Amino acid sequence: MKFTKDDKIVVLTGAGVSAESGLQTFRDAGGLWENYRVEDVSSPEGFDKNPAFVWKFYKERLKQLENAQPNPAHFAIKKLEDFAKDNFTLVTQNIDGLHRKAGNKRVLEMHGALDRCRCLKCNEYWLISQVDLSPDIPTCEKCGGILRPDVVWFGEVPYHLNEIAKVSREADYFIVVGTSGVVYPAAMFVQIAKDSKATTICVNKEEPANLVFFDEFYKGKAGEILPKLVDEWIGEVKE
Ligand code: NAD
Repeated sequence: MKFTKDDKIVVLTGAGVSAESGLQTFRDAGGLWENYRVEDVSSPEGFDKNPAFVWKFYKERLKQLENAQPNPAHFAIKKLEDFAKDNFTLVTQNIDGLHRKAGNKRVLEMHGALDRCRCLKCNEYWLISQVDLSPDIPTCEKCGGILRPDVVWFGEVPYHLNEIAKVSREADYFIVVGTSGVVYPAAMFVQIAKDSKATTICVNKEEPANLVFFDEFYKGKAGEILPKLVDEWIGEVKE
C-alpha cells in the first residue's frame, strides 16, 4: 500500500505510543491505575474532594515526563506529517506532549496536556513552567484562584471533537496506534472514518476492543512496527 500526497491521513494515538518512552499506560499490567483509583485522580469530583492529592498525582506524572523522550513511533508519525503536510492530522489521547516534542505541528490533544493548567476562578490558562508548583495546591498568579491541570477528566467533554469528527469523515487513511479502543469518544472515530470509506489501520500490542472496525491490524510494539510501515507507505512515492 502506498500513500499519495493527495491522501488525507489521520493518525489517532493512545498511551501505547508512549510506552516505549518509559511512560506507563493505564491498563497494562504495571499501569497507572494499579496504584491509584481513577475516580480519585481523574474526575472533577475527585479534585473537588482532595485537590492536593490530585496535584500530587500530576506532579508525579510531570516528574516522569522530565526525562521522557519521543521514541521511534513518535518520529515515524512526524515523518508522516512531513510527507502529507496539510493533509495530515494527528489526534492524540495522550497528555504527555511527546508528539509536539517529536516535532509534530498538526496535533489535536483531545484530552488536554500535562504541561498546561488553568484557573478555576478566572479561567486563565498557564504553562506549567510559569507556575510555582511548590504549594500542595498551586494558585493563579493573576487572581489567587485554585489551578487545575488542563487535562480532560472522566465526565468532561474532550477538546476538538467537531474538528476530529470532520477529519475522520474526510480521511482516506485512518491509522490508530497504541490505544485499547475502550475510552469513548476516542474509540468511535475509527467507526466514523470507516463509514466514510477510509482505509482503517491499527498498530497495537494487543487486539483493541474495537478491532471490528479495522481493515488491517498489526500486532506488536509501535516503535518496532510503525517506522517500517511508514517507510513502506511513503517510501516509493514520487513528488
Ligand atoms: P490504554 O492504557 O487503555 O491502552 C493502551 C494500549 O496500548 C493497550 O491496548 C496496550 O496493549 C497498547 N500498548 C502498550 N504498549 C504498546 C506499545 N509499545 N506499542 C503499541 N501498543 C502498545 O490507553 P488509552 O487507550 O490511550 O486510554 C487511556 C487514557 O489514558 C487516555 O485517555 C489517555 O489520555 C490517558 N493516558 C495518557 C498517557 C500519556 O499521555 N502518555 C498515559 C496513560 C494514560
